[in-house]
Amino acid sequence: MMSREWHSLDQGIIETIKETQDGAPIRLSAIASALGLKVMSTTLPSGISGEIRPDPANPDHFIIRVNRNDSARRQRFTVAHEIGHFLLHREEIGGGITDDVLYRSSLSDRREAQANRLAADLLMPQDLVDEWMERARTLKVDNVISFLADKFNVSEAAMKIRLGIP
Ligand SMILES: [Zn+2]
Repeated sequence: MMSREWHSLDQGIIETIKETQDGAPIRLSAIASALGLKVMSTTLPSGISGEIRPDPANPDHFIIRVNRNDSARRQRFTVAHEIGHFLLHREEIGGGITDDVLYRSSLSDRREAQANRLAADLLMPQDLVDEWMERARTLKVDNVISFLADKFNVSEAAMKIRLGIP
């Protein structure tokens, strides 16, 4: 099931994102560019996973930075999380939001949970997950979670949450 955050987005935004979600792994950079966001993998202080702030050269636009010392899959989730803040909490970004390794920032925990749920929808849309789940069955894959995590280029932890596995 897609989250209520996903369903709260404007229909136009949903269409734009869905056009890029044409196969696994999701091309996150295509989602970012479609939304006019610049994404950079860069050195951030240890303990910080990512941030989103207005582009000083063009304050109507936002730049997402992720910690290049994090694993590639974690960086992907962080980018998706920051896109989540952009889509859901743009008015609250102000001078910028910085997320630590537990995705805590100056925003409330409720807002952080919203960004995490939307991030999961961006990286692991339910229809594609269902499709690959079906293929995993057909192929008699032993470790479905690791198979799906590889297909979607996400952590096994993220995939387990998507599948509702505790
Ligand atoms: Zn956050």
